[in-house]
Amino acid sequence: MTPQPDRVLDLFQHTGAYLKGHFRLTSGLHSPEYLQSAIVLSHPSHAETLGRQLSTRISALLKEKEIDLVISPALGGLIVGHEVARALGVRFLFTERDADRKMSLRRGFTLEPGTRAVIVEDVITTGGSTQEVIDIVRAAGALPVAAGSIIDRSGGAVNLGIPRAALETLHVLAWKPEECPLCRAGEPVVKPGSRP
Ligand SMILES: [Zn+2]
Repeated sequence: MTPQPDRVLDLFQHTGAYLKGHFRLTSGLHSPEYLQSAIVLSHPSHAETLGRQLSTRISALLKEKEIDLVISPALGGLIVGHEVARALGVRFLFTERDADRKMSLRRGFTLEPGTRAVIVEDVITTGGSTQEVIDIVRAAGALPVAAGSIIDRSGGAVNLGIPRAALETLHVLAWKPEECPLCRAGEPVVKPGSRP
């Protein structure tokens, strides 16, 4: 058995998911580092470990209160959401964007009124995707009881109005393009995320 690093960031480093360079974030800001959670989650055993750890944090937030299901925004939330649901012993649903980029529940997934749902993402930056899922849950008459992510890139600033857990909270170093020292040094910039 390979040793399991204790800390989440060690796991990112160990699997090559902690990228160093010159990156353009979704926000438009430039940063010298990027966490590519898909790389960590490409190892099923790591995905399982992270899902179990996150499920423990979320359960602690809810103090034994019931959770009926986990729901995540595709694609980023799929693997970790599934692993959190496995650890909690509940169902897993996902939302996805339609042709108009609107997040919706498809594939015959339904939410019964009163269902207690936990929303899980891989990385929270602005909380935008999680908020869209919260809105879908509420519109169905179900209850968004908590949210969770492996990484919180907002430094804890995102407030979704419901209890929220993250395995790591980071203050990401980022600059406006015109203030970026890497641009000034002539380093080519890379767009590493999932959105084109
Ligand atoms: Zn730059």
